Amino acid sequence: MNELLIKPSHELHELLNKKEVSSSELTKLFFERVESVENKVKAFVTLTKEEAIKKAKAVDEKISKGEKIGPLEGIPIGLKDNLCTRGIKTTCSSKILANYLPPYNATVIEKIIAAGAVPVGKTNLDEFAMGSSTENSGFFTTKNPWNLETVPGGSSGGSAACVAASEAVLSLGSDTGGSIRQPASFCGVVGLKPTYGRVSRFGLIAFASSLDQIGPLTKDVTDAAILMNIIAGYDPKDSTSANVAVPDYTKALTGDIKSLKIGVVSDLMGKGIDNAVKDAIKAAIKKLEELGAVIEEVSMPSFEYALPCYYIIAPAEASSNLARYDAVKFGHRTPDPQDLLSMYYNSRREGFGPEVKRRIMIGTYVLSAGYYDAYYLKAMQVRTLIKQDFEKAFAKYDVLVSPTSPSVAFKAGEKTGDPLSMYLSDIATIPVNMAGIPAISLPCGFSNGLPIGLQIMGKVFDEEAILKTAYAYEQATEWNKQRPNL
Ligand code: GLN
Repeated sequence: MNELLIKPSHELHELLNKKEVSSSELTKLFFERVESVENKVKAFVTLTKEEAIKKAKAVDEKISKGEKIGPLEGIPIGLKDNLCTRGIKTTCSSKILANYLPPYNATVIEKIIAAGAVPVGKTNLDEFAMGSSTENSGFFTTKNPWNLETVPGGSSGGSAACVAASEAVLSLGSDTGGSIRQPASFCGVVGLKPTYGRVSRFGLIAFASSLDQIGPLTKDVTDAAILMNIIAGYDPKDSTSANVAVPDYTKALTGDIKSLKIGVVSDLMGKGIDNAVKDAIKAAIKKLEELGAVIEEVSMPSFEYALPCYYIIAPAEASSNLARYDAVKFGHRTPDPQDLLSMYYNSRREGFGPEVKRRIMIGTYVLSAGYYDAYYLKAMQVRTLIKQDFEKAFAKYDVLVSPTSPSVAFKAGEKTGDPLSMYLSDIATIPVNMAGIPAISLPCGFSNGLPIGLQIMGKVFDEEAILKTAYAYEQATEWNKQRPNL
């Protein structure tokens, strides 16, 4: 494989600047790679080759004129297919939106365009981002580049797989309960879920609005910081976007974590976590200690309730958000409706897959009169307890660590018949979304040839601390240099 295909964006940026490679050459190279591996990996729902070639040419002209280029200018990027792209199909991997052409760009897309990145295409996901394996995609399943019989994780499985398979340099995903971090962990790449409100959700097709966040999937921690610099920031178009100054995240990459206080979440190091995963996390913790961090165990008793609470709150919000797909304002319409009601019923019956229907039913139930207090309200109260557990811990520690996922990538088909066991994939990532804090997953080992991810969680708006910790660890290890042999 051409070694340009495995480089992170900051290295390619140098080469572009030195005119050792042009963006057009890079783009050609990445599309050749897509052609040779995409039939195995199936990371993309839509490829945007024409758009990409045009973009790359424009960047090359700029370089030839001697103009300065930004860090992502001319760099091939994958975009999760729940991010609205004007005039380019945005399907959410759902049949109901199979032909949807958004009339506007998501704010992050505007920012990516302004930054001059080259769009490779729109990546596959679990339908409406509901799932942990991309097996809930309404179109096809993405495969894990490390082992094609296993899943890439989800819901941003396409975004993680395209980076791992070198079909794009980096990508954007979204994370409601783990959908950036868990696929990053399964595919051996870096994935960061920013603080809720840090990145604009305008134009991100809504799943659970109080939990959704957009974030980067990259080959290394430096690239995650670079992509964060571009997408973070206040947006008046998103009422939950935070008007908080954005630092230069690359400045946090000092490599120095001496005296940093790290809490190891003991509740996520026991029952239900595979031994190989536990061993890799323990070794990572030891490495962090060698680097000068102060390590202690911390217990988060409310975590036990995070998963059941999430599966009340997320479906409740989803049932309300997905009401808009009525075949009138949006989406697939049944070909031959008998009357208005059958038009609604049949369009939604045909358009939504089984997991989405399950969530709409659960969500409608927990919000209904007589049940609202028992379920939704109760879950919101427990959500406060989770936040308080984090607040207490962060009064003592700078960052917290745990496994990202209880296991490495599982076999395709293994959990599709058992939604509960699928839901348990997110046991370590969901508490983070419930509290709105930032967290990163980065490679920290292998088991059976499959990558393991270390999760580092930080205080609200302190992405710098998690990037700093992750960078120090990455510099001291070689895990992120491993590439799948496709
Ligand atoms: N796997 C979780 C779910 O199915 C999280 C998905 C996500 O973060 N979008 O809800």
